[in-house]
Amino acid sequence: MAQHEHVRVAVIGSGFGGLGAAVRLRREGITDFVVLERADSVGGTWRDNSYPGCACDVPSHLYSFSFAPNPEWPRTFSGQEHIRAYLEHVADTFGLRPHLRLGHEVTIMRWEREELHWVIETANGARFTADVVVSATGPLSDPKTPDIPGLADFPGKVFHSARWDHDADLTGKRVAVIGTGASAIQIVPAIQPKVGSLTLFQRTPPWVMPRMDRKISGAERWLHRALPATGTARRGLLWGIRELQVSAFTKHPGELGLVERIAKANMARAIKDPELRAKLTPSYRIGCKRILLSSAYYPALAQPNVDVVASGLAEVRGSTLVASDGTETEVDAIIFGTGFHVTDMPIAERVVGADGITLTESWKDGMQALRGASAAGFPNWMTIIGPNTGLGNSSMILMIESQLNYMADYLRQLNVLGGRVALDARTSAVGSWNRRVQERMKRTVWNTGGCNSWYLDASGRNTTVWPGTTAEFRKATRSVDLSEYEVVRIPKRAAAAKEPAAGKAVAEEVGG
Ligand SMILES: Cc1cc2nc3c(=O)[nH]c(=O)nc-3n(C[C@H](O)[C@H](O)[C@H](O)COP(=O)(O)OP(=O)(O)OC[C@H]3O[C@@H](n4cnc5c(N)ncnc54)[C@H](O)[C@@H]3O)c2cc1C
Repeated sequence: MAQHEHVRVAVIGSGFGGLGAAVRLRREGITDFVVLERADSVGGTWRDNSYPGCACDVPSHLYSFSFAPNPEWPRTFSGQEHIRAYLEHVADTFGLRPHLRLGHEVTIMRWEREELHWVIETANGARFTADVVVSATGPLSDPKTPDIPGLADFPGKVFHSARWDHDADLTGKRVAVIGTGASAIQIVPAIQPKVGSLTLFQRTPPWVMPRMDRKISGAERWLHRALPATGTARRGLLWGIRELQVSAFTKHPGELGLVERIAKANMARAIKDPELRAKLTPSYRIGCKRILLSSAYYPALAQPNVDVVASGLAEVRGSTLVASDGTETEVDAIIFGTGFHVTDMPIAERVVGADGITLTESWKDGMQALRGASAAGFPNWMTIIGPNTGLGNSSMILMIESQLNYMADYLRQLNVLGGRVALDARTSAVGSWNRRVQERMKRTVWNTGGCNSWYLDASGRNTTVWPGTTAEFRKATRSVDLSEYEVVRIPKRAAAAKEPAAGKAVAEEVGG
C-alpha cells in the first residue's frame, strides 16, 4: 500500500532554502509539514559538492543564517565540510529531524483544483497531499554535462564536479578539467600537485580576483562567542560593503574598470608567460560573468604539468580529447566543471498547475515568478530563490531569508482569509513584476558586459539575477500584497455536496 500523508506544507529540498523554510515554519507555529529530500542527508549544495578545494566565495559570517550565527567558523571562507556540518547542526538545533523525509525524490506534484491541494508523488512510491508547496530545490542542484560526441566510449573515469568520484585516484594521472567556472577554479589548484598532467579546456577565461582567505583566530572566535553582538557587527559590515558594490554592477558598469586592474595584477603576479597571459585575459567587462575569487588558480596554471587549451571540448576519440580548435590531448580522466541546469531547472517539468500544464510549459518564453516566488496558474506553490533572485556579489542566504519572510506572510494571509483557500498569482502581477525587473536589467553589467553567461537563458534573457540590492529585495518581499493574487475557494455548497462538477474552485476578486 502506498503511504499517504496530508500536511499543511510540503517543503521540497533540504539545502539552505529547505532547512530555512522548515525553521521558519516552526517559528510561525506550524508543525504540520514535511521536508522531502531526494538524498540521504541534508545539506543540498554543500552535501553534493565535495570536490577537492570546495569552499564558499562569500565570507562565512555572511554566508550563514542570521538566526543561527556560528561563532566557530574556522576560516573567513569556510570549506564545504564545515558548511555541511553547520547545516546538519541547524537541522538538530531547530528540531527539524522529525519533519525530514530523506530518500524521497519528488517525481510529480499536481494541483487538484477540486480539492485545493497538491498531490505529491515520490520515486520511492510515497504519496503526500499538501495545502501549500514550498519548492526549495535549488538553482544549482542538477549538474549539466555537455553532450560531447564519443564521450560514452571514453575508457577512463568521467565525472562532474558536483558528483565527485572519491574512488577515482588521480595521483600521477593525465587529467582534463572542462570549464573555468567557480568550481573548476577551485579544483585546478587542489589537484594540480598530485596529478601527472592537467589540461584545462577553457572556452572563455574568467576574471579572477585575489581571495582574502585566512584562518579565523581563536581570539576572534572567543570574542564572537562571548559577545555575540561582535559577530552580528562583522556580518553587518560584510553585508554593507557588498551593498555598496551593487550600483557598479547594476547602473554604472564603467566603474568596474578599476576592479579589472586588480584582477589583471592578480594574474600578472603568477603568470609570467605573455602567451599564457593573453589566453587567460578576458575580453568582456568584469562582473558580466560571476567574478571568481582565488589566489591559487593562476599559480597552479603556471606549473609545468598544466596546459591551458583556449577552446571548448568538441569531441572524444577513445582516450583523445579533441578541442574545437583541433588540439588533441590524451587523458586518463575527465572532470566536467560545466555547471548546472539553471534556466531550464528540471523540477519545473514535475510541477503541474491548475490548467494541467507544467511549469516548464508555462515558462516556455523564459522563467518568471512574482517576487521570485509565485507563478501564475500554480496556486499555493512557491519557490525559494526562484527566477531573478541570484546575486553576483553577495550571500544567497540573504535572498533566501527574504523569501522566507514572504512565505511566512503568505501562510498568515491564508489563515486570515480562512477556510479552504488558495492564492494564485495574477498573470498581470507576474507580468508587471517581470517587466520592472527586465527594465532594470537593461543597464546592468550582466546584459551589457559583452559576455555569454549562465545567467542568460537560451533566448538571451537574464532570468536568474536580481538587478538591485538585497535591501530592496528584502523590502519587496516583506509581505504579500493580496491585490497581486486571485483568492481561490471551493464554494461551500459544492464542498458539502462533494460532487466533482460542483466542486470546481472559484476565483474571488480581492481589491487593494
Ligand atoms: C560549488 C558551489 C559553491 C557555491 N558557493 C556559494 C557562495 O559562496 N555564496 C553563495 O551565496 N552561494 C553559493 N552557491 C550557491 C548555492 O547553491 C546557494 O547559496 C544555496 O546553497 C542554495 O540553497 P538551496 O537550498 O536553494 O539549494 P540546494 O542547496 O541546491 O538544495 C536543493 C535540495 O533540493 C533537493 N532536490 C532537488 N530536486 C529534488 C526533488 N525532485 N525531490 C526531492 N529533493 C530534491 C536536492 O537534493 C538538494 O538537497 C554555491 C553553489 C555551488 C554549486
